[in-house]
Amino acid sequence: MKKPIIYITRKIPDEILAPYQDSLDFRMWEEEDIPVPRNVLLQEVKEADGVLCLLTENMDRELFENAPQLKVVANMAVGYDNIDLEAARERNVIVTNTPDVLTETTADLAFSLLTATSRRVVEANDYIRAGKWNHWSPYLMAGSDIHGKKVGIVGMGRIGESIARRANGFGMPIMYHNRSRKPSAENDLGATYMDFDELLREADFVVSVIPLTTETRKLFNEDAFEKMKTSAIFINVSRGGVVDEKALYHALNENTIHAAGLDVFEEEPIDADHPLVKLDNVVCLPHIGSASVETRTKMLHLCMDNLLAVFSGEGPITPVNNP
Ligand code: NAP
Repeated sequence: MKKPIIYITRKIPDEILAPYQDSLDFRMWEEEDIPVPRNVLLQEVKEADGVLCLLTENMDRELFENAPQLKVVANMAVGYDNIDLEAARERNVIVTNTPDVLTETTADLAFSLLTATSRRVVEANDYIRAGKWNHWSPYLMAGSDIHGKKVGIVGMGRIGESIARRANGFGMPIMYHNRSRKPSAENDLGATYMDFDELLREADFVVSVIPLTTETRKLFNEDAFEKMKTSAIFINVSRGGVVDEKALYHALNENTIHAAGLDVFEEEPIDADHPLVKLDNVVCLPHIGSASVETRTKMLHLCMDNLLAVFSGEGPITPVNNP
């Protein structure tokens, strides 16, 4: 029987593909660091039964309309704002993501960003490298405390709860905001539910782990930053689109808030000329929330297992839609 054709939009290691090669016929964009050009992707999906894509691919209506055979898209991310789910549903295309396997790793990074930003770790490292450390002095690179400060988690889902567990270890009171209450977070982690505005006013650290949707786009805007404390530190590990970056820049530049740690941006990648990179009170990372070797490997395996499960008739393991 003919094996289903799977198009993979980035070069991934042979050892990941090997266990699946008897069942799936792989075609792949052979560059590790460069995304597949749009015209190549549009051509390749014409014959594909399945696609393994990254968040760099815009899986929009035009793409689905070009893919008559397509049955499944396995997205190598838990967020799926790069995929037009409505267009997928109309064509009965299953979409899968990679929840759970990246939760703890992303929470580790969120907490690293929180500590690096509040204790000025990157700035202090740059200070030594620039040969500026001549004396110890009482307020040299003095930052803000973490222990005892209130953390406000916006999006208390899998990753949010995992961040809250870390915050508990640091002795931080935990507040959260979701559309619905999360009894497990309240009972097991001692988290307090708040409406969005109240959380912004109360939190010393505001951490965004909310998915990007039409409802959450630019949720963190001028109005939101004005409600935060002037000492507040804003951490974003979800998607850049939930932030109005111009408003964030002004809030940081005019000391409306104290600092920000950002793993994600409205348009990625950003370069060294991006206004937020120029500010001393910002730590910027290149979207590395889930980037440990162990977790990225698990994410690829989960994508492969989802593809195999769909074509073997078992059905997807981690679907985000059910056409
Ligand atoms: P999740 O378990 O689905 O959690 C998302 C939480 O956000 C849910 O508790 C949900 O609760 C809440 N939420 C959704 N829409 C909301 C709204 N409009 N207002 C208020 N709360 C809302 O997802 P997760 O696995 O924790 O992942 C969260 C996000 O992190 C992903 O979508 C992705 O964008 C991002 N992420 C980034 C990286 C990185 O590399 N930086 C890595 C992994 C994930 P309600 O439904 O009750 O509102």
